Amino acid sequence: MKSFENKIMGSILGLAVGDALGAPVEFKEKGSFPYISHYQDGGEFNLKAGQWTDDTSLMLCLLSSFVEKKTFDLDDQMNRFLKWWKQGYMSSTGECFDIGNTTKASLSRFEQTKLALSGETSDKASNGALMRLAPVPLFYHYDLSLSLHQTALQCQTTHAPSDCIESAQLLSYVLTSLLNGESKESVLSFKDYPLLVSEKFLAIVRGDIFKLSKEQINAEGLAYNTLEAALYAFFHFDNFYDGLLFVVNLGDDSDTVGAVYGQIAGCAYGYNNIPAFLLEGLFQREEIELLAREFVGLIEGKRT
Ligand code: MG
Ligand code: MG
Repeated sequence: MKSFENKIMGSILGLAVGDALGAPVEFKEKGSFPYISHYQDGGEFNLKAGQWTDDTSLMLCLLSSFVEKKTFDLDDQMNRFLKWWKQGYMSSTGECFDIGNTTKASLSRFEQTKLALSGETSDKASNGALMRLAPVPLFYHYDLSLSLHQTALQCQTTHAPSDCIESAQLLSYVLTSLLNGESKESVLSFKDYPLLVSEKFLAIVRGDIFKLSKEQINAEGLAYNTLEAALYAFFHFDNFYDGLLFVVNLGDDSDTVGAVYGQIAGCAYGYNNIPAFLLEGLFQREEIELLAREFVGLIEGKRT
């Protein structure tokens, strides 16, 4: 597999694998469950081992929108999100589950107004836009400014607080840069990050978060903490699997930190570095890979 395809497939499959591995321990307190290293049955939604949740469903809504529309179409993206909520489109069970309150409120608003930018600005800054993001920066990898702009818009369809947008743009920068062949060290230095960084996020771009102890990292569901946990694991481990084990064993919003870490580490190390047993056990692996390959074909033509 060529490097470009390996990174894109790695980011998309990495998201789904991280979601599925973390799903059985979502909402469980760190340390309250046996260490997880393989897919398991059960969890809050009583899934079968390898089944994934809303994180992957919403990513697949974005991915299929790009593949079918061949462009960034906010209305189409939101119609797919709505179809997921109402009809279980792109769900691993055929029904919508694990939907966040912020996402539900935004989709409800969209259903009434048909305005794609339906995110509430006042909600707590949760991680619901980060978890699905990968297709947007991967699509726009050839133009960082455009990637960051479109990322903000995609984020604001459901999650409009500034922390949500800023964390999504930082993730977008990481994915865009990794796909363009920048080294992990260079990307994590954020030296070419072109936007204003707020006081809160300075600890991320200056690398202060990497000096925290493992015990200080949590997966409590806020956008900032989710990005912090994913980048921390990416910094401290040198392969896809070890970093993923660290984040999913945080419990709490384990599926989502798994999905965010999976996007990053999958893009950095590539599809070939995702353990074969995690790919083989992933629910609807073939369908996801087929869609991801179509996406690769679509954006290959945009390479610079
Ligand atoms: Mg989920
Ligand atoms: Mg979650």
